Amino acid sequence: MINEEYDKNNIFAKILRKEAKADIIFENEYILCFRDIFAIAPVHILIIPKRHFKDIFDFSKNASSEEKVAIFDGFENIIKIFKLDQDGCRLISNFGDHGGQEVPHLHFHLLGGKGLGPMRS
Ligand code: 5GP
Repeated sequence: MINEEYDKNNIFAKILRKEAKADIIFENEYILCFRDIFAIAPVHILIIPKRHFKDIFDFSKNASSEEKVAIFDGFENIIKIFKLDQDGCRLISNFGDHGGQEVPHLHFHLLGGKGLGPMRS
C-alpha cells in the first residue's frame, strides 16, 4: 500500500535510497539503524522502518506484524552492540507538532552511554 501523505523528499527517505550518507550500525530486510548526525549522547542511534511510515501512529495502524517485531529486534540489537543492557538507555519517538517531530519518517531515538537524568521538559 502506498502512503500518499508520506513526503518522499525527507532526509531519511534519501538515506534509505542511498542518496544521502549515514553511519549505518545495523540493517536487515525491515529496518535501518544509523547514528544521529547531531548526537545528544555518546550513543544516539536512530532506528527506522525501511517501508514508508510518517510517524508512530501511521506505523501502529498500517505496519505488518513482521515490521513491528523487527523494530523491537532492532532495539535489542543496538542495546547489545553498544552493551547498554547493564547501565540502561532511553528510547524516544517524537510524533507530530506537539511531539516536536522534525523528520517525517518514523524513527526511534535510542540514547545511552551516560547517565541521562530524569525526563523533564
Ligand atoms: P526528530 O526531531 O524528528 O525526532 O528527530 C530527527 C533527528 O534526525 C534529529 O535528532 C536530527 O539530529 C537527525 N537528523 C537530521 N538530519 C539528519 C541527517 O542528515 N543525518 C542523520 N544521521 N541524522 C539527521
